Amino acid sequence: MSAPSSAKPLVFVMLGPPGAGKGTQAKLLAKELDIPQISTGDLFRENIQSATPIGLKAKNFIQTGALVPDEVVLDMFFDRIKKNDCKHGYVLDGIPRTLYQADVIAEKIVPDVNFHVLCLNVEDATLIDRAEGRLVCRNCGKIYHARNSRPKESGVCDSCNGELYRRPDDAPEVVKERLRVYHEQTKPLIAYYKERGYLTAFEGDAPPDLVHAKLMRYFLDKEVSH
Ligand code: AMP
Repeated sequence: MSAPSSAKPLVFVMLGPPGAGKGTQAKLLAKELDIPQISTGDLFRENIQSATPIGLKAKNFIQTGALVPDEVVLDMFFDRIKKNDCKHGYVLDGIPRTLYQADVIAEKIVPDVNFHVLCLNVEDATLIDRAEGRLVCRNCGKIYHARNSRPKESGVCDSCNGELYRRPDDAPEVVKERLRVYHEQTKPLIAYYKERGYLTAFEGDAPPDLVHAKLMRYFLDKEVSH
């Protein structure tokens, strides 16, 4: 299935706490609809790896579980969506995370696109467990879990043979801080989007393929594929 070429671009926001499965679900949805997944966290990690000016600005915030300042995130984000692969739409994973970011997106993007917010609800205890077990492929970004979703060969990605690693900000004390920041700064976006009629909530506790099936059913029911 692919996004329509003539209709308005299709833009999804994956909303939810850290460890809710936003990355996994955003990747599956993007693949199915043939539009890119844009993860601001991944963009920051690439910038940190390459020691770019953005990476240097973001590094300390990310290491301590704080949010990167809005201007830095938004500049990087608007640069990314200018690229040609975004012209039929994209799935956002990790942005917006503050009311200010949501307001900027509401002003500059929402009027010109077919806009949907998908929220994944997961209990805090599950989030901590998921973050503690999370393994990520350094090459393709595929996400595994040390107990629940293991790769066939330890430390090696099933899809691309890339090396699996643990994100430093998945350390327990940083996860606690990320959750605190989520409740304080990002959770208000649920009410924000509900009031504006964009939000659909899903149980994120189920296995990833079941959650994905529900998201796809929502997509087909809404006929956002035209
Ligand atoms: P993620 O991979 O989405 O969990 O993001 C990792 C980290 O990148 C977050 O804990 C923040 O420090 C930073 N980050 C990613 N997206 C944003 C955003 N939209 N606003 C502020 N900080 C962000």
